[in-house]
Amino acid sequence: MNLQKFIRNHVEYRIDPLTSGQSRINPKRAKRAKQTENNVEQRGIISRSKTQCIFCPNQIEKQTTEFPTDICQTGRIKEGETTIFPNLYPFAENHAVGVITTEHFLDLDQFTEELLKDNLVASRDYILSINANNHKARFPTYIWNYMPPSAGSIIHPHVQIMVDTEPIPEIKKFLQKSKKYFQNNKKNYWQVLVEDEKKLGQRYIGGSDMLALIASFAPRGFNEVQFIFQGISSLSELTLKLIDDFVSCLVKLLNGYKELGVGAFNLVTYSSAVNQNHEYYWLNMKLISRPFPKGVYTNDTGPMERLYDVWVIDTLPEMVAEKLRIHF
Ligand SMILES: [Zn+2]
Repeated sequence: MNLQKFIRNHVEYRIDPLTSGQSRINPKRAKRAKQTENNVEQRGIISRSKTQCIFCPNQIEKQTTEFPTDICQTGRIKEGETTIFPNLYPFAENHAVGVITTEHFLDLDQFTEELLKDNLVASRDYILSINANNHKARFPTYIWNYMPPSAGSIIHPHVQIMVDTEPIPEIKKFLQKSKKYFQNNKKNYWQVLVEDEKKLGQRYIGGSDMLALIASFAPRGFNEVQFIFQGISSLSELTLKLIDDFVSCLVKLLNGYKELGVGAFNLVTYSSAVNQNHEYYWLNMKLISRPFPKGVYTNDTGPMERLYDVWVIDTLPEMVAEKLRIHF
């Protein structure tokens, strides 16, 4: 694995070993003055939003729509506390919302393995149902935006599940670059990444025999952790054992995030097409932290990220791994 980095003016420039994307890490930036900080209570945002919440149990049936019966016989897909229904404001061909819990708000350390497992099982069912109904809808994506700084507009914990005919361009890039790596090296990029990171020990956090968690070498987000699933390429291939491994690791990471003072995050998946297993590609996901929700805050994403595709980060991945590893 070619892990390229160089230092200029105390800034670590790192190149993503798969995509060649650039990250610039300067841990001193975490200490820079932020004149917008204030102490508006997070509790205030939570209680104010509860009175009008369309995802709370007393409103969800009235305020959300149902799937056609060829997607779901009962209108909404339910599993434990999870309810999945169509997204009224989609940005994908098939776009659903999956409410995770009947509670209006859960703190990062309050999500149980059971809640997250039910949510993922129901999401997998949605993906398979959409694909069975239309074989051209093949590329599934599972996204969890937690709290408004993550771009989530509703406080009540929920995920988004999309199934498109074409992969998201970034996922297409992952698939293409992984295929090229396999052709050039006769090895699976993801397998090599996991083996090398385990050997190096600086960024490997933990996992199971089938799942590895690594603080990304060239992160695109703060406290970025990669999940790499051994031997499967698509979300549709997630077995109950893999889902168990995943939720167990995610709960540990969310506890770690809580201890780091994180109050918002994004979790995204990079999946191949439904039921498509590639020897060159393993299903992977990324978790990143976002600014703490407290009134006006300094955004973690500025012109370098939005308009130049360069990722300016204030913590070394090796430090992220060190702080999160203690939860495993
Ligand atoms: Zn609610």
